[in-house]
Amino acid sequence: MKEQKEQNELHLETLVVHAGVEPDPQTGAVMTPIYQTSTYAQADVAVHKGYEYSRTDNPTRTALQASLAALEGGKYALAFASGMAAIDTLLRLLGAGDHVVCGNDVYGGTFRLFDKVLQKYGVAFSFVDTTDVTAVREAMRPNTKLVWLETPTNPMLRISDITALADVAHEAGAWLGVDNTFASPVLQRPLSLGADFVVHSTTKYIGGHSDVVGGAIVLNDTAVYEQLKFLQNAVGAVPGPMDCFLTLRGIKTLALRMRQHCQNAMQIAQFLADHPAVAEVIYPGLESHPQHELARRQMKAPGGMISFILHGGEAAARVVARETKLFTLAESLGGVESLIELPAPMTHASVADSPLAVDPGLVRISVGIENVQDLIADLRQALGKVV
Ligand SMILES: *Cc1c(COP(=O)(O)O)cnc(C)c1O
Repeated sequence: MKEQKEQNELHLETLVVHAGVEPDPQTGAVMTPIYQTSTYAQADVAVHKGYEYSRTDNPTRTALQASLAALEGGKYALAFASGMAAIDTLLRLLGAGDHVVCGNDVYGGTFRLFDKVLQKYGVAFSFVDTTDVTAVREAMRPNTKLVWLETPTNPMLRISDITALADVAHEAGAWLGVDNTFASPVLQRPLSLGADFVVHSTTKYIGGHSDVVGGAIVLNDTAVYEQLKFLQNAVGAVPGPMDCFLTLRGIKTLALRMRQHCQNAMQIAQFLADHPAVAEVIYPGLESHPQHELARRQMKAPGGMISFILHGGEAAARVVARETKLFTLAESLGGVESLIELPAPMTHASVADSPLAVDPGLVRISVGIENVQDLIADLRQALGKVV
């Protein structure tokens, strides 16, 4: 597993189990140990084994980074303390006077970071509908350094054409960054479609067990990697070794989990579409989805996230979110357990009164890996309270 070339020939189901993890040189331990240390003994002044201080490098983090790079088919990965820390560090490649074209349906925390924090440092942002390639092209300026998008988006599950938008960005001399959190590398690998950066909140599908917060950047360009590696150490938003271990452990079952998330979600989307209380189901796997064809081309499967709107609007949405038993009412997504939430007052409260504000009656579910009949029965009883 040492050579990148070998890794690229392996299938994802194999990479998730093997990539990055090697038997511990000291003991032969099959799992990379949790190197719970801040510093490393040096044999002589500035003579060490590649590790000096754990903000700079830690062996458990090294294993996680190698695994993440292999999963996304990239040369390099950097791990961070959260998805937001990864995005913030990446944006530090830019400076005052630079411009970013950003999707208008991105994660609320990303909008908040761009709009409320980074704008103060002189970086300008235009928020546009990235499903519209022409709109993105028209938003490009001479000082545009980065096009930033999510696909599928959160919570509207819109799909953007990564290949077409990579061309638009590159023609203008800008980078394309894709937040791949909702798809995971099992369903979509943006670097292979032309993106320059892939970012993850590993808190979600990659970790997969709702027990750790983390983030990552994956890329191929060596010079840009060196800059980001410098920033990772200089800014210091790194994950601890225990968090790296938990994320690595989660990755082992990523391919298996994604298969079940997608199978369950497809059946639940069809159940919801046929239910009399439901006005609209938003799921890329349904033919009614506006970018269904693009999703089929770009993704291996349509994912585990579904949004829907009830005939009863916000009042009915609140009842259903409260009445489900297996679907836990909670923020976040991508874990083995099913979750339900109302984006407007919960995950997307930070974008209220902004162009990104969402329908207050929208319900978002993260479909877990439980038995699908149990999940459907739970939704049926909750929806029964509003018809
Ligand atoms: C959760 C999330 C983030 C932020 O990640 P954290 O790990 O919570 O900091 C960024 N992008 C998307 C799409 C997310 O779902």
